[in-house]
Amino acid sequence: MHEDHYAPDTLAVHAGIDNCCCHAAVTPIYQTSTFGFSSAEHGAELFAGRGRGYIYTRMGNPTVEAVEKSVAALEGGSNALACGSGMAAIHTCLATLLKQGDHIICSETVYGPTLTLCKSILADFGIESTFVDTSDLAAVKAAIRPNTKVVYVETPANPTLVISDLAAISAIAHEHDAVVVVDNTFMSPLLQRPFDFGADYVVHSLTKFLNGHADVIGGMIIVRNEDQYRPMRRMLNHFGGVLPPMESFLVHRGIRTLHLRMQRHCQSAQRIAEWLADHSQVEWVRYPGLPDHPQYELAQRQMKGAGAVIAFEVKGGIEAGRAVMNAVRLWMLAVSLGGVESLIQHPASMTHASMGAEARRQGHVSDGLVRLSVGVEDVEDLIADLDRALHAAGRESTRVARGTHEHLVS
Ligand SMILES: *Cc1c(COP(=O)(O)O)cnc(C)c1O
Repeated sequence: MHEDHYAPDTLAVHAGIDNCCCHAAVTPIYQTSTFGFSSAEHGAELFAGRGRGYIYTRMGNPTVEAVEKSVAALEGGSNALACGSGMAAIHTCLATLLKQGDHIICSETVYGPTLTLCKSILADFGIESTFVDTSDLAAVKAAIRPNTKVVYVETPANPTLVISDLAAISAIAHEHDAVVVVDNTFMSPLLQRPFDFGADYVVHSLTKFLNGHADVIGGMIIVRNEDQYRPMRRMLNHFGGVLPPMESFLVHRGIRTLHLRMQRHCQSAQRIAEWLADHSQVEWVRYPGLPDHPQYELAQRQMKGAGAVIAFEVKGGIEAGRAVMNAVRLWMLAVSLGGVESLIQHPASMTHASMGAEARRQGHVSDGLVRLSVGVEDVEDLIADLDRALHAAGRESTRVARGTHEHLVS
């Protein structure tokens, strides 16, 4: 198909589909590790990078290529590389772009394992990192050094939902011959296309919205041109963190309804965010679709929708947050995001419980912070369940307060 002419919703359905020799409606799963050569000469040609055909699935497979083409088309890139996880994509990308003695500037609020990758793993290979609030352009500028090669941005950030200005950051980086890598997982290519704002590389966790059904771990690197593609493919071939054919098939199937899912995710999240903002048990709500978001204007400019993730502060701190977690029935208590099912998480009592109150404060994780990934269920069912849980938390706070009082009286 001539992909340049179609709108994103059409690309989501059709891009990359390889009808194969028998006009199949979807790309078949080439569940094979290796491919035969038609002759010794054919094998030699393929190894020399010429001729048509496949060699070995780590180096290329039609089912994997199909999903790569799909995501490349959606992001507006020239090529994409499917990886075994989002972290495999991030690691392969950074390892290709950085070598010993180089420096990377990274958003201070990024996906936890990305922070560890830069802070300790890349550091062991002699690569320095500086973590800054990338929503503060002066801080990004100030962090640039002569050996800065990469500016790595995640926007919106998790769980603060702070937004970084991709066009302004790309301009700063390019002025200093550094490249910009954007983790676009929270938005998907349907809500934000970093290449349109000058970014150089995009990475995704396919595990989240792109697959969308909570049944695959995968990642993707998207590049703008062939010159960027070749070294990246070489690194992936040798690091070996590729996405297998079965997973590629599932992700590609998921992408065919991405536009419908994103539409519903955004609609329901907007409704829930507005409802939460008026709730008596809620201190504050952070969602890029609410006009009181500190960067609402930038969000309107850079994003085509506000996404599925909402952060809010429940009144009553850790105890109240825990009470909400234990009272929900429809919302699933789980990490991850971007699936058809709604997930709820309370960092202070779950993912960030072991790090201590002070470290949590520094990471902008307050005691009553609850993170939602709004799925595609009926929105009124989701609201009813959350309402019941918030009132249960309110009763719990009152009981704790009264309990203390009674104890003092007796
Ligand atoms: C989940 C996630 C990742 C890591 O992806 P995996 O598939 O779990 O390796 C990276 N970045 C963001 C923003 C994520 O949400």
